Amino acid sequence: MKVSRTIIELQKCLKELSLSPVGFVPTMGALHEGHISLVKSAISQCPIVVISIFVNPTQFNDKNDLKNYPRTPEGDIALLKNALRETDIVFTPDVKEIYPEEDMREFHFGNLDNVMEALHRPHHFNGVAQVVSRLFDIVKPDIAFFGQKDFQQLAVVKALVKQTGDKVKITGNPIIREIDGLAMSSRNRLLDPGIRNRASIIYKTLSSANSMIGKYDIPEIKSYIKDAINNVPGFNVEYFEIVDDTELIPLTKKTDIRKGKRYYGCIAVQAGKIRLIDNIEIRLV
Ligand code: AMP
Repeated sequence: MKVSRTIIELQKCLKELSLSPVGFVPTMGALHEGHISLVKSAISQCPIVVISIFVNPTQFNDKNDLKNYPRTPEGDIALLKNALRETDIVFTPDVKEIYPEEDMREFHFGNLDNVMEALHRPHHFNGVAQVVSRLFDIVKPDIAFFGQKDFQQLAVVKALVKQTGDKVKITGNPIIREIDGLAMSSRNRLLDPGIRNRASIIYKTLSSANSMIGKYDIPEIKSYIKDAINNVPGFNVEYFEIVDDTELIPLTKKTDIRKGKRYYGCIAVQAGKIRLIDNIEIRLV
């Protein structure tokens, strides 16, 4: 694998190799098996894969979160060395390379801007759209690989590509979990040990939404899930919504369910000092 720090270097490499389709896996580093699953999926479909590692300042609405975001460059390179081929490229730009000037662009995503993460992390998705569109312009991928772990982000990226008319194909890969069910996340390494030991409650409770949907209506399921998690010391649910996978419109009652749509239970939980998100498909049959 090659490591490029600059756009010029990266584009030179891509030109010299001239392989297609070009796969792309954007990340913020502190890599784990969830990221590696995206890399493997990209490798299985593309003769050349670019993995970017860039902690994007414009998507952090909280300065402390940006400051404390885990950065493990040596571990990342070691993990990638194992997974990548000679033709694959790790792109590790600095902030000036991605944003030579302040990015003033504003993106609008309709209802996607009015629910869940968008309500709790103002401007977050504008920052995501800025960095993703900038990275797509630089890498010019044919296929980009994202995780379903960041459910709303995946919907935003698909909407972005529709708006810009970019030809890149966006794929969503399944969530990779720890043995106890906790969704893998770079932020998990920031959890206090006591909180980490109890964090399986999130997935365990989320999973119960599936067995409840036959018997109970949406408000009852929502309050059960919130209460079950809030009862665990150190855990506090920010939101739990059941939404469709395209417009992300929250269900308020079961009669709102529309045929042909897929629904997901999406949750954000404050776990000690760390905010975690997760989701699960709600099977309605
Ligand atoms: P991040 O480094 O957190 O920005 O994530 C980079 C990509 O990896 C995003 O598309 C995430 O959705 C994806 N990702 C993060 N955690 C997981 C996971 N546990 N399973 C699958 N994909 C993941």
